[in-house]
Amino acid sequence: MTINISDTAAAPAQQTGALPSFGNRFAELPPAFYTRLQPTPLPAPYLVGFSEDAAATIGLTAAALQDPDFLDLFTGNRIGAGSQPLAAVYSGHQFGVWAGQLGDGRAISLGDVAAADGRGRIELQLKGSGKTPYSRMGDGRAVLRSSIREFLCSEAMAALGIPTTRALAVTGSDQRVQRETAESAAVVTRMAPSFVRFGSFEHWYYNQRFDELKVLADAVLAQFYPELLAQANPYKALLTEVTRRTAELMAQWQAVGFMHGVMNTDNMSILGLTLDYGPFGFMEAFDPRHICNHTDQQGRYSYQMQPRIGQWNCFALGQAMLPLVGSVEDTEAALAGYEAVFEARQEQLLHAKLGLATVRPEDEQLIDAMFAILRENRVDFTLFFRRLGELRVGEPQADEPIRDLIIDRPAFDAWAVQYRARLQAEGSDDGRRRLAMHAVNPKYVLRNYLAQVAIEKAQQRDFSEVAKLQAILRRPYDEQPEHEQYAELPPGWASHLEVSCSS
Ligand code: AMP
Ligand code: MG
Repeated sequence: MTINISDTAAAPAQQTGALPSFGNRFAELPPAFYTRLQPTPLPAPYLVGFSEDAAATIGLTAAALQDPDFLDLFTGNRIGAGSQPLAAVYSGHQFGVWAGQLGDGRAISLGDVAAADGRGRIELQLKGSGKTPYSRMGDGRAVLRSSIREFLCSEAMAALGIPTTRALAVTGSDQRVQRETAESAAVVTRMAPSFVRFGSFEHWYYNQRFDELKVLADAVLAQFYPELLAQANPYKALLTEVTRRTAELMAQWQAVGFMHGVMNTDNMSILGLTLDYGPFGFMEAFDPRHICNHTDQQGRYSYQMQPRIGQWNCFALGQAMLPLVGSVEDTEAALAGYEAVFEARQEQLLHAKLGLATVRPEDEQLIDAMFAILRENRVDFTLFFRRLGELRVGEPQADEPIRDLIIDRPAFDAWAVQYRARLQAEGSDDGRRRLAMHAVNPKYVLRNYLAQVAIEKAQQRDFSEVAKLQAILRRPYDEQPEHEQYAELPPGWASHLEVSCSS
């Protein structure tokens, strides 16, 4: 007799269509931290996108979609069991200027559910689910366009291995919301262990409410950094660790050419996650000064500025935590690690991108010369590194696919001589290097134009391209020859695409 393993695996216990029952950890904070409220219903919601990968992190499968309440629950039309919805208050520095109180102006947290891996709880938040006391001039809504972008990019970043909030689903509605033009409304269900921001700390500091500041820090420590509680000064340890995570995150963004676009302190996660996807972009024609956010005229958040802004934001957090950390010296000591962490991680990631297994003094020059070629020739960032992985040390005549990306070919050829010599010096094996490089240099990233095509179809109620793009970006490092066109250079029309803060 044979035992059919797949049959036993499909036992009823695996049936995970059951929607979660919520706990409300954030609501245990004092009432000053939030406002309890109900989402504003959206009429006749429909499903635009669903992430099985995100769902799996809370023990759900696509079977959850069969639940007749699914759409209503994740549009905010119905409140799930145990959920006590709330909007949190926070403040922040926007474009380097103190902006005062902000808060969840259009996001409503439903509460938290158990993580499938048994490690803690995951908060679920509806973004675009109606006005809150923190909406200021806003309408509390999000448009389908920006909701699809957030959904696709959260999941793409997770697949790239970069810390990020997740997106469970996007629901849409034909209800119109006014931006530059009238657009249809949508709701993204985002997930993260916590949505606490640097600006959540700044809020209490600038209001001189140091008791609440301490309550917040203690809760963050207890829930997310319990190992730091044993340290002599847990607040200093917390600042040190958040600084470290932020520096790591910046190095990871740079390495895949991700640009956030709005690195205000209210968009910086206390867990070191990529948070609040707005006018983000992935680097295409390489230009370190590239500004992905049309609204950012000064280029404060350009590609090359991100690491410094990440550090600036840590300083803003340090300022806010000063009353807890206790002294300027300790605060400075906690922040001091940023550069070393960033540089070490960047060096490691760049070496991996070039397939270098060892570090040598001459590498800095080699890498600088490579970036100069990328910059001067406006070479597509993603394609360059992917094709570089195909280089064979003994076959310069096979470099055509890489050379095709570059106008000044003699410059590349000269650099390639150096690069080959460097590879030879460490006895690099073509086959192994190719595999290693392809495992860190994605073939597929969420190019703006790809998102745009999916959005335009979705606006016609055809969500197939959202699903297709999502499926491709789920495996960014795999060849997927059947999807070759998704890895190609953007078409001419894409150069006119602009993304702004309007969302
Ligand atoms: P962002 O630049 O997207 O991080 O948003 C900054 C602040 O504006 C946050 O407090 C948001 O909640 C709020 N906000 C953005 N868009 C809206 C909107 N349509 N309605 C209400 N609040 C919004
Ligand atoms: Mg924000």
